[in-house]
Amino acid sequence: MSDFDELVRQIHDCRKCALSEKRTNAVPGEGSLTADIMFIGEGPGFNEDRDGRPFVGRSGRFLDEMLAEIGLRRQDVYITNVVKCRPPGNRDPLPSEIEACNPYLDAQIEMIAPTVVVMLGKYSFNRFFPGESIGRARGKPRNWNGVIAYPMYHPAAALHNPGLRPIIEEDFRNLLKQLEKREAEPKKVDEAPAEQLSLF
Ligand code: URA
Ligand code: SF4
Repeated sequence: MSDFDELVRQIHDCRKCALSEKRTNAVPGEGSLTADIMFIGEGPGFNEDRDGRPFVGRSGRFLDEMLAEIGLRRQDVYITNVVKCRPPGNRDPLPSEIEACNPYLDAQIEMIAPTVVVMLGKYSFNRFFPGESIGRARGKPRNWNGVIAYPMYHPAAALHNPGLRPIIEEDFRNLLKQLEKREAEPKKVDEAPAEQLSLF
């Protein structure tokens, strides 16, 4: 069994927090294990808990649409969440639940080693950058441990507030530009310390 399969098995069996008690299925994530872009949402909702797959409900359809607009399919990226089990009634995940689940997300980032980590919504963003406003940070790439962190509004926010849709679309287009820039200077990236990269 590969290390990644072993991690997925651990998530399915995990009982480290109370979210394990009411889940139908844990949702480890899905996509390419060599993806350049990793999307991190908040946590599974009703549909995700039922299917054991991330972003399969309305938010997921919107995410798929946004990916398609920049020429990507789900299998080209990796999609996961801060917590792998559904908070009952879709309540917000508690700090203690996020903390219990953190080692799984850390391990996924380390194994997949994406170029860009897209943080979808405030729970995902604040998991990496506590206390900051997503509204101010969105669309601006920054450094997180040598990875490009790219905060965005959560797709669900655009379902409640259609005015956010063009902002999310713009952030998706810029996301692609971040990658293209990075691909244009691969040497520099490997050699320069993260804080010296022109991106930041
Ligand atoms: N919202 C999320 O944050 N994650 C999902 O997987 C689905 C909806
Ligand atoms: Fe384990 Fe994370 Fe599920 Fe909690 S949410 S039971 S820590 S996998």
